[in-house]
Amino acid sequence: MNDNIVAISTAMGVGAISIIRLSGKDVISIVNQIFKGKDLEKVNSHTINYGYIVNNDEIIDEVLVTIMKKPKTYTMEDIVEINCHGGIATTNKIMELILTKNVRLAYPGEFTKRAFLNGRIDLTKAEAVMDLINSDTESSRQVAISSLQGNTFNLINNFRNKLKDLISSIEVNIDYPEYYDIEVMTLEKIKKQVTKMKEDLSNIIKESQNTKLLKYGIDTLIIGKPNVGKSSILNKLLQEEKAIVTDIEGTTRDIVEGNIIINNVAFNIIDTAGIRKTEDKIEKIGVEKSISLIDQADLVIVVLDGSKDLSNEDLEILNQTKDKPTIVVINKNDLDQKLDKTKLSNYTLIETNTFDECGINPLKEKMIELFQLDKIESKDYQYLTNTRQISLAKKAYQKLENVSEAISNNMFIDLLEIDLKECFDILGEIIGNTYTDEIIDHLFENFCVGK
Ligand code: GDP
Repeated sequence: MNDNIVAISTAMGVGAISIIRLSGKDVISIVNQIFKGKDLEKVNSHTINYGYIVNNDEIIDEVLVTIMKKPKTYTMEDIVEINCHGGIATTNKIMELILTKNVRLAYPGEFTKRAFLNGRIDLTKAEAVMDLINSDTESSRQVAISSLQGNTFNLINNFRNKLKDLISSIEVNIDYPEYYDIEVMTLEKIKKQVTKMKEDLSNIIKESQNTKLLKYGIDTLIIGKPNVGKSSILNKLLQEEKAIVTDIEGTTRDIVEGNIIINNVAFNIIDTAGIRKTEDKIEKIGVEKSISLIDQADLVIVVLDGSKDLSNEDLEILNQTKDKPTIVVINKNDLDQKLDKTKLSNYTLIETNTFDECGINPLKEKMIELFQLDKIESKDYQYLTNTRQISLAKKAYQKLENVSEAISNNMFIDLLEIDLKECFDILGEIIGNTYTDEIIDHLFENFCVGK
């Protein structure tokens, strides 16, 4: 696997410098062949060396070359980084020259993949590298850096160690029942430990879902009948004219999206077509789509027109959102109010009018308050950070459920061990302790080239 790879690690375009990175067993001698300056094969590791990249007698650029010898490198292989002048022509010319040697272009994420396969980082850290690069809010950056420091790994590793202890005690009991000095594992004792583990794992999953919201943002759906002011509210929230605002019913046919950041938390806002029973085909598609989106949303904002009384359609929409965190916005409060608010006493209500922005700030405050994400301190970011990790944790939880059930049914201890071991293996997948090539390839495909 340690063939020689190269990639441009900086963004391609006009800039002061570009970094070309190589990793593999021969990269120092390869760069040495096109370098005029010190003999790179003789310099110390972790040094920066001034010189020129040359193609025979032709000078291509004046550069700084960093030499990092294995194993203390990102990939645990020899790494060379060429800091050349930025700009497409120079960078490409050096790349072309390098590619005439025994080097190939790196696949996306291949440097990090090598770091993982060579055992320098676990899978959660590899994912954190990408998250850090992609993070666009302070909160998502903190989640990523915490995971990169090993917090997610430690969380899972500690949990697995406890499981391992339990599995070994059970095995000793099965294999050496004649020994008197070992702790006898009764179903009662196992039950106590498994119950505690289930509680811990379920907390991890719950908190991780919040972390996921911090990282990816809260998917927020604006929903309501046509003409109540959904697009106007979206525009006010986004502070830009992205949605089409019109007084002809049903013109926000397609779905309009935008992002806002409130107190460091991102909200991915989607404005849906008005929900109503209609014969209009295009609109119908939009309506069906908007109802189907409720399920995927983390937060639903139902908009009502305060100048009209609640209709059956309004109640139907409210009914559809009953399992979701919901804010009910009573819009058009500049007009005579006909809506009977007493029927909405169970909801979080905000009154707005989009002409003078009345209620828009309170709405933003409520959006944040509902999730209490601002209360999560950075030191608490010791959680799973993506869907892959969370869904594996849920699978592992299911195995513990099986154990509980088996205990209730007074099953033999040997049978419990099977689920406990499976739970251990599934948690191992989170950190990459057990993996398949297919999963690893898929995971690194989404990385950027040069990382
Ligand atoms: P949507 O169909 O729910 O997206 O509604 P729009 O945002 O397109 O607004 C429909 C109509 O209501 C437009 O004429 C808006 O100018 C008007 N409108 C929106 N918000 C308010 C408000 O707070 N007060 C009043 N009086 N009219 C509003």
